[in-house]
Amino acid sequence: MGRFDFNPENYKQQLQVLLLKLRQGENLEKILRRYPKSKTELFTKAEIIKALKHFGYSVNLIAKPVRTLSGVVPVTVLTKPYPCPGKCLYCPNDPQMPKSYLPLEPGGQRALANKFDPFRQVAARLNTYRANNHPVDKVELIVLGGTWSAYPKIYQDWFIKRCFDALNNQTAKNLYQAQKINETATSRCVGLSLETRPDWITDKELINFRRLGCTKVQIGVQSLSDQILTLNRRGATVSQTRQAFKLLRQYGFKIQAHWMANLYGSNPKKDVADFKKLFSNPDFRPDELKIYPCSLIKTAPLMEQFKLGLWRPYTQTQLVELLVKILPLVPDYCRVSRIIRDFSSSDIVSGNRQSNLRQLVENKLVGKIKEIRFREIRNQPPRNLFLKIISYKTSLGREKFLQWVTNKNQICAFLRLSLPKNKTTAMIRELHVYGPALKLGSQGEVQHSGLGKNLVAKAINLAKINKYSRLAVISGVGTREYYRSLGFYDGRLYQYFKVG
Ligand code: SF4
Repeated sequence: MGRFDFNPENYKQQLQVLLLKLRQGENLEKILRRYPKSKTELFTKAEIIKALKHFGYSVNLIAKPVRTLSGVVPVTVLTKPYPCPGKCLYCPNDPQMPKSYLPLEPGGQRALANKFDPFRQVAARLNTYRANNHPVDKVELIVLGGTWSAYPKIYQDWFIKRCFDALNNQTAKNLYQAQKINETATSRCVGLSLETRPDWITDKELINFRRLGCTKVQIGVQSLSDQILTLNRRGATVSQTRQAFKLLRQYGFKIQAHWMANLYGSNPKKDVADFKKLFSNPDFRPDELKIYPCSLIKTAPLMEQFKLGLWRPYTQTQLVELLVKILPLVPDYCRVSRIIRDFSSSDIVSGNRQSNLRQLVENKLVGKIKEIRFREIRNQPPRNLFLKIISYKTSLGREKFLQWVTNKNQICAFLRLSLPKNKTTAMIRELHVYGPALKLGSQGEVQHSGLGKNLVAKAINLAKINKYSRLAVISGVGTREYYRSLGFYDGRLYQYFKVG
């Protein structure tokens, strides 16, 4: 029986007691354990929500709330297995998966179950969210798997179109039509993330990314040392990474960098020095970061170095010490999305198996962390908000990071504004308002409370003060209507506001 075939009528007796306790305000986790579904199984939260709906009670509990506290539901989809141009030493290789992914990772399991079909992956994920009572109005599509740029263009177009078809719940004639439908669909794609290598980033590639609706690029930096990159057979140089960052900025993409600790040839001291360069050097300064300490997976070529005793994973203590040193170095404008890879511990031959590593590290850093994720307002009521603007230099010019924060520096909304040197157009690279994902048009504590509009107005003003004639925005397909409502007009790849 599939998880959505659950029929509450078959468990009526157990459920009635359980739902009564729930409505009396008892803790859900405790009730689930006290009133199991069978001797070996507990009811899931999705089943409880289905039961509440079925028996006519109001559904006011949301399962797994953390997933959508950033205001948008993330939907991760994996591309089909396909050769990657990279030969990276640490990268796992499972022929049934796209390069670098494993069948036991959560996204991998879902992709395999849906035979890597983009429509089925998106539709299944939306169904899960709905079953858990999450609004799915605003979706961030995250496309993972090997190197996106190496997939044939015809596959890329089909893949993205089918993702949009699933969001739209209808089949369009072509990608353009699917995007058009999505502009006003119930589930709108407010962000689209693609994953590629620095050496594949060119003008042509980024124009293609925009055509697909991409707003964020995940890029494997891994190290800022050519020596370490060569030892790990990365096949890309620091100078290529530098150039990729510059181009990504020119095109306004949000940059999510992947950086690795414990690579072959490195050590904790070198790692700290390398990490510092990510933010001290204006050529890099990513907007988001995934920190991946190297773990040894059986199918990775790194097994050879391990067997020869040339590479060893850091001990748990070394790893925690390293993370405690580097996490406070991340500035206010960057979001650390992850500090470990989602590998199942059974896949790891050697390396970190502690899934709560982040929490362990954060507990040691009270009052020292500035990065965004740690400061997100989540479901607390926003009070005493004030606007804080951080200005920093990039390879392109200046960047302004505008953020609405509480007096405890919790972040409620932010906007990234790029002010490139010797250009006439400034660019909004990201606008994000935090708070639980709410249905479009409903009133929430933070979402829809006007912070977004306020930030856009501030960006227009800053563009004017700095003598730009236009303000562009790298809008997601599903946010085009929003920007039109604020006076932006459509261009081929961006939307614009006349400033002068
Ligand atoms: S480029 Fe990425 S996916 Fe390809 S081998 Fe290297 S790490 Fe793996």
